Amino acid sequence: ISETEQAVLDEIERKDVDFLRLQFTDILGTVKNVSVPARQAEKAFSEGIYFDGSSIEGFVRIQESDMRLVPDPETFAVLPWRQKDDSAAARMICDVYDTSSGEPFEGDPRRVLKNALERAEEMGYTVNAAPEPEFFLFEEDDEGRATTKTADHGGYFDLAPKDLASDVRRDIIYGLEEMDFEIEASHHEVARGQHEINFEYDDALTTADNVATFRTVVRAIAAQHGQHATFMPKPIPKINGSGMHTHLSLFTEDGENAFHDDDDEFNLSDTARSFLAGVLEHAPAITAIANPTVNSYKRLVPGYEAPVYVAWSDRNRSALIRRPAARVPAASRIELRSPDPSCNPYLAIAVMIHAGLEGIERDLECPDPVRENIYEFDEAKREEYGIDTLPTNLGEAVDALEEDPVIYEALGEHVAPKFVEAKSQEFEEYLVDVSQWELDRYLETF
Ligand code: GLN
Ligand code: MG
Ligand code: MG
Ligand code: MG
Repeated sequence: ISETEQAVLDEIERKDVDFLRLQFTDILGTVKNVSVPARQAEKAFSEGIYFDGSSIEGFVRIQESDMRLVPDPETFAVLPWRQKDDSAAARMICDVYDTSSGEPFEGDPRRVLKNALERAEEMGYTVNAAPEPEFFLFEEDDEGRATTKTADHGGYFDLAPKDLASDVRRDIIYGLEEMDFEIEASHHEVARGQHEINFEYDDALTTADNVATFRTVVRAIAAQHGQHATFMPKPIPKINGSGMHTHLSLFTEDGENAFHDDDDEFNLSDTARSFLAGVLEHAPAITAIANPTVNSYKRLVPGYEAPVYVAWSDRNRSALIRRPAARVPAASRIELRSPDPSCNPYLAIAVMIHAGLEGIERDLECPDPVRENIYEFDEAKREEYGIDTLPTNLGEAVDALEEDPVIYEALGEHVAPKFVEAKSQEFEEYLVDVSQWELDRYLETF
């Protein structure tokens, strides 16, 4: 076994770790765990752990159900909310292998992202990413079920005493730091009960792993306080929803930021501009992956700081892509504002990368930035500026995905059809449902 693997075995000994959770995600981005006694760690490294993949969403057909999990020792972390005096639980994130071929399993979202990173590497780049996940903290009812009642009434950057949830957020941050997260900032968001925690950028794979971990940690620690943390994009109508802005940049092999150009008006290189143009061109299909729930589209409406229009800007936040002010060349990057935290972070980051690389390969021309508030444009003005609209519901987004070979193929032969099937079904179920809004509006009127 390798040096890193040995270091994990030592750590297991030193911290009295009894159980290891082997973590991976399904196509829909739900974190799955297989728990094994810690003494199996060495075997997990050398042989992997076998499991039945047929019960995992979209993984395999029943007849080809045996999968193998191989833990990535770099991702070892003790779970802070499971630590006692003489015992602890830890987790490792795993790659999934197909037992019949022995090859990496193409239905593993982590594999889909690795494929995107390999394409970047072939072009001479590494990819950095940083997310800004937002979430709500809600009270639980007497039976422990989530409500949409918030414990606080604070607003953007408000502090105590209004910010009653700040204790919870502080414990979440301690928990994340124990799991080696570099927290850059955390604050109360615009909506009541809404929070944001930003962690430092990292290579794209680590960042996707971090998002998966982040959601688990936030939920677990909130639950310890009797609160329910939700990453549902729009839990309360008519106030801001939760986004997960995602910052991206490419670095060259010698560690230079390929997105930075001192001489450009926006400090964006031609590489960055073509990447940006690629993301704009594939934005409708990306939306299916970055905004994968029926509810996601309740967030992507004008007026709540979420993007609706396919444009970029160096200053206003109604655009799909923003170029944040960068203090140093290494920080030049683009920010995609459409993703929401219900997405599968591996797939979402993978399709953004493919779209951008496609833009570079085809040397796409970047349109001019839009500096006015696009929410206030009427249709004629949008047409004059050539600004398209994002898909307005999950059905349209899935159609866009099916019509975009670059993004469809980025998901791979396994994930693409399974994703389309699962999401089409979800949308059809929604279409035939009768909502509370309809009952309130029509039941007594007609
Ligand atoms: N909550 C907003 C969204 O839905 C973002 C608000 C912000 O971070 N400025 O994307
Ligand atoms: Mg932010
Ligand atoms: Mg925010
Ligand atoms: Mg942001």
